[in-house]
Amino acid sequence: MKILFATEDPKAERWKAPLLEQLPQADIHIWDAANPATDADYAIVWQPPAEVFAQTHSLKAIFNLGAGVDALLKLTGLPDNLPIYRLEDAGMSAQMAEYVAYYVIEASRDMALYREQQADGVWKMLRPIRRQDWPIGVLGLGQIGKRVATTLAGLDYPVAGWSRSGQPIEGVESFAGQEQFKSFLARTRVLINTLPLTPETRDLLNYDTFSSLLPDAVVINVGRGEHLVDHDMIRAIDEGLIRHSVLDVFRQEPLPIEHPFWRHPSITLTPHVSARTLRDETVQQICDKIKLLESGESPSGLIDRQRGY
Ligand code: NAP
Repeated sequence: MKILFATEDPKAERWKAPLLEQLPQADIHIWDAANPATDADYAIVWQPPAEVFAQTHSLKAIFNLGAGVDALLKLTGLPDNLPIYRLEDAGMSAQMAEYVAYYVIEASRDMALYREQQADGVWKMLRPIRRQDWPIGVLGLGQIGKRVATTLAGLDYPVAGWSRSGQPIEGVESFAGQEQFKSFLARTRVLINTLPLTPETRDLLNYDTFSSLLPDAVVINVGRGEHLVDHDMIRAIDEGLIRHSVLDVFRQEPLPIEHPFWRHPSITLTPHVSARTLRDETVQQICDKIKLLESGESPSGLIDRQRGY
């Protein structure tokens, strides 16, 4: 069995040994334009060059080295009928839950103010938290959103989630589809985006959305940069609709140094690190799926190209 590994990682060779540990009989071929492995059975990819698929004609499936397939689906030359499998959690949901919980707690427990007080040598208790003042709304209730929602519900915040299907989750109020979007926003003060990027979800974090939230809102975007209309975020902060925003993903990455988000006092940004791809968990999951395919079974995590996720 031949596996083509095509990513932007300049140290892609690092993936070979763990892959071989799981699939000792495999021939692992790191992408090389001069020697393109035209007879590969499976491709493991992350933002691969477009030529990868033009030169490889024997593929049975593609594995995306991430949860979101938005970049892969817009790649010119992506074969129409090949099954694409994405990463399902693979250690990302716990990272995302702790990232989001950190910033929710920072806001709701006045941690930034206590840091300022320390700098000024001030010993002063601020008002204790009233959880009912911090209703949280999670956009997307998949592998990532569900873990985020249940983690925060476990800390007794009032949590609601919004998805297409409105699947019920214990301890979380569920809202479904466009028709319930406005009522979801109207009860939400902390808006957390964990949606996949699709034509339906692009630009969803816009001025209209922000002005439908409860006053003094906090917005956390860990989905994709194209979910957010950047100037609408600045406007909503400047108009006092949003008190603070935490952004991990951007339309252009790295975020250009002249972008106003860098220096805005009400924006915290991180360089797309809220949930990293973990090599051991990822290799294990992909190899398990390859083994299932080889034995004629259907692994989970198959992308529905019509839905875009
Ligand atoms: P997932 O399991 O496929 O879940 C997607 C969720 O979004 C589902 O609940 C789905 O609803 C909902 N959804 C999709 N389109 C919708 C729409 N038009 N309206 C309402 N709900 C919609 O995906 P995941 O594994 O949780 O990952 C989600 C996204 O997180 C990824 O696509 C990626 O963009 C992002 N992510 C970011 C990082 C990072 O480092 N910043 C890391 C990992 C993932 P249904 O349940 O009804 O299908």
